[in-house]
Amino acid sequence: MSSKYKILVIEDESNIRNFIETVLDANDYQTLVATTCEQGILMFSSHTPDLVMLDLGLPDKDGIEFIRTIRQTHTTPIIVLSARTSEDDKIEALDLGANDYITKPFGTGELLARVRASLRNNRPGAGAGSLPGEKFTLYDLVIDYDRRMVFIGSEEIKLTQTEYNILALLSYHTGKVMTYATIIKEIWGSADDGSIKKLQVNMANIRKKLGSKPGDNQYIINELGVGYRMNEENM
Ligand code: CA
Repeated sequence: MSSKYKILVIEDESNIRNFIETVLDANDYQTLVATTCEQGILMFSSHTPDLVMLDLGLPDKDGIEFIRTIRQTHTTPIIVLSARTSEDDKIEALDLGANDYITKPFGTGELLARVRASLRNNRPGAGAGSLPGEKFTLYDLVIDYDRRMVFIGSEEIKLTQTEYNILALLSYHTGKVMTYATIIKEIWGSADDGSIKKLQVNMANIRKKLGSKPGDNQYIINELGVGYRMNEENM
């Protein structure tokens, strides 16, 4: 592997920045760093990284401004580094075009899993279901996209059309959090007051039918107050 992925880290706290840089360097990524929003935008323009890791609380501007600026012209994946407990900040960042977030403090395994998921999701033609005959598997869950069928082991799981569509959507973006608003827009086209409730009811039915019990490997992770994420086996 001669061409390394270039990752731009925009973070003003040196201990977090150094931690990320050390982990990424040790895992064969090329790391660039910036400590302010303005510097981040300049570095982005001159180096065109493959991925950005972005702190929201920067000394000169809110990291949200970086997302606004970059998303006018680029689809480069952005992972938000969030120290904030407020779900609203995460949702705003995701809805403005951030691809994912990771809540501080985080460990090496979680950091690398998020980086891999974001780089994979951004490959041209990436994502499950883009090839004929392709199947999605996670533990003993299998989704047969061509036949729109779902199995646990060899047993077929009967889902409604809506339940299937939600499960398939999450699987196309495995490892990535999907906000309530994103899922609702994809599945129903438009939102109304009852949309989140409708989504939660469908999700409860999906979980029940998939039969995951507490302590089992989970297929779908509930990101409380934000959305849902299809699990990855190596996370
Ligand atoms: Ca900060």
